[in-house]
Amino acid sequence: MGTEFDLIARYFNRPAPPDYLGVGDDCALIPVTAGHRLATSTDLLVQGRHFFADMDPRALGHKALAVNLSDLAAMGARPLACLLGVSLPKADHAWLEAFSGGFHALAQRAGCPLVGGDTTRSEDGIAISVTVMGEVLPEHALRRSSAQANDDIWLTGTLGAPDIALRLLQGRLPSDAHRLAATRRQLEWPEPPMAFAAALAGVARAALDISDGLVQDLGHILKASACGAELEYAELPVDDALAGLEDELIRNAVLTGGDVYQLCFTAAPGERVRILELADQFRLRLTRIGRIVPEPGLRISHGDRAIEPPAEGGFDHFS
Ligand code: ADP
Ligand code: MG
Repeated sequence: MGTEFDLIARYFNRPAPPDYLGVGDDCALIPVTAGHRLATSTDLLVQGRHFFADMDPRALGHKALAVNLSDLAAMGARPLACLLGVSLPKADHAWLEAFSGGFHALAQRAGCPLVGGDTTRSEDGIAISVTVMGEVLPEHALRRSSAQANDDIWLTGTLGAPDIALRLLQGRLPSDAHRLAATRRQLEWPEPPMAFAAALAGVARAALDISDGLVQDLGHILKASACGAELEYAELPVDDALAGLEDELIRNAVLTGGDVYQLCFTAAPGERVRILELADQFRLRLTRIGRIVPEPGLRISHGDRAIEPPAEGGFDHFS
């Protein structure tokens, strides 16, 4: 045990579904439904930047795929398959067992089999690159540029918990075991609303996930769609685990905190009933947080006061 091929066979090669050609050849072959578009996206996770060296490897395997599935969800695409590139300083079998276990468990549940990848040795630290492929009808894709004035803005799940967990783990907040326990799962085991998102294709207009914070990510829709938005702060679904924290900290976590692999989308007001029924069907928390307006810019009000978006901003690797 120990060659690159042994590692691949043991940890990454899993039987592919019928009609697929999976790990083992020069390329994988994936069946695609006629008339659909291939939707593809990739995310690179680097130790020290996106995760800590001591992160539970099972959670890391899960999250590496989840953040990519979140991009498919935000396009309204149905998963088809994924590719995994891993670069490791050494072959740590306990680590690989747990990492691949977390990865395959989600891949199986999401119907997104691992069909190929690349495995290399690194000089230092772990890097993980996942590419997902999915399919969507071109006219149903939830593009960032498709929002229209008067659309409702909707959000699944809650805001703020992953940001507070991250601050606690980084020591930017005084340690609080109880609060960490209440927030950590959302940071490390995100569950993007895949099935709901696929059902929204053809119903919603524009969508994205909130990997870099609500203000920044919603800003991408506004820019691409050449419009603005009005949000009511009191309507935002603040996670219960933030109760008791200072108001300003809550506001920053809710408005600019990233790692929220939920769906923010816009839809015509005429779709409200259908959208609420879908949320019910998929047992999701869903909140209408504001609306799209023709004038550019994001305005957040709290009762009759205006809130300045926090100066901290969203996440940017090069800022
Ligand atoms: P190549 O020489 O074409 O790069 P490799 O020898 O790297 O192929 O990989 C052999 C097979 O194993 C290929 O089908 C490749 O897709 C697959 N593979 C390699 N690493 C991984 C991985 N981390 N996860 C899934 N499949 C992998
Ligand atoms: Mg290779």
